[in-house]
Amino acid sequence: MSTEAKTVSVVIPYLNEEEALPVLYERTCKAFEALPEEVEFLFIDDGSRDGSFEWVYKTAQSDPRVKYIKLSRNFGHQAAITAGMAHASGDAVVTIDADLQDPPETIPDLVAKWKEGFEVVHAVRTTRKGETGLKKFFAFAFYRIFKKITEVDMVSDSGDFRLLDRKAAAAISQLREHHRYMRGLASWIGFKQGSVLYDRDPRYAGEKKYTFKQSFVLALNAIASFSGTPLRLIFYLGGWICALSLAGCIAAWIYHAHYGHPKHIGTVTLAFATLFITGLQMFCIGIIGQYLRRVFDEIKDRPLYLVQSDNLPPSR
Ligand code: UDP
Ligand code: MG
Repeated sequence: MSTEAKTVSVVIPYLNEEEALPVLYERTCKAFEALPEEVEFLFIDDGSRDGSFEWVYKTAQSDPRVKYIKLSRNFGHQAAITAGMAHASGDAVVTIDADLQDPPETIPDLVAKWKEGFEVVHAVRTTRKGETGLKKFFAFAFYRIFKKITEVDMVSDSGDFRLLDRKAAAAISQLREHHRYMRGLASWIGFKQGSVLYDRDPRYAGEKKYTFKQSFVLALNAIASFSGTPLRLIFYLGGWICALSLAGCIAAWIYHAHYGHPKHIGTVTLAFATLFITGLQMFCIGIIGQYLRRVFDEIKDRPLYLVQSDNLPPSR
């Protein structure tokens, strides 16, 4: 890592965060006052319909450190982060949520770790305030299951608040897969990885923008893009069901040879067994479908996002 590194880009993807953005900007400016590095703000508008973009646009007129990219519609948080990372010019790139759940005051800790020589610095949540018990439970379970079934050495409890050295950011920008799980990719690229701890605050204002469905899809993307375990499991499951039913047939045949016809054939049991196996088959096909859908999207190879306007220099 170069010791003359001077600029840190702060990438802020946002969707309708007009109340939080000015406060985030103020607090981030303050956090950088104590640092020798310059800050570059890179706001990514992910299809906002409130006054967020107007505020960013206005602020960019008075502060040359403020850059923005306005996407042509809502492409999703992960695509917005990707856009930011691809166009950030800093020697290091910090990605942070716009809703102030990730406190900007933690940025100096990330920068300090970077200066120690770490090229990917994950901010790891010690506590999560203002989130429902169910969300915490799902998040806790997900990170642990994910860690078990993937080959990537993932950091648990780290969201999309992290710092990447320029080299690491360039490496991630090369990965153009469509169903992106950025925290997985940030671990997958390797380099020297480190982490700092922080307390996650409640959202500053407004509603959360990730619906339950979006969070679920993100979890599916994480698993489908980093693990073949579900495919392997259904392969084994199918094998076991075949083996067990064959054993059952042989047992019934022996029983029949010794004792003649069993009295009850058990129609209900049979009906349920059939339903169960049919359901199981559909579920397994569904799992394969999840992978196939992703293959389909990769083959189409559409751009990950489209830019409507920006104030970047022409070279970027
Ligand atoms: N976000 C975005 N596009 C989306 C959804 C969310 O840019 O389609 C932004 C949102 O404005 C926020 C960050 O992603 O800055 C995290 O979203 P949210 O706070 O809703 O997620 P949570 O913290 O609940 O996981
Ligand atoms: Mg949030």
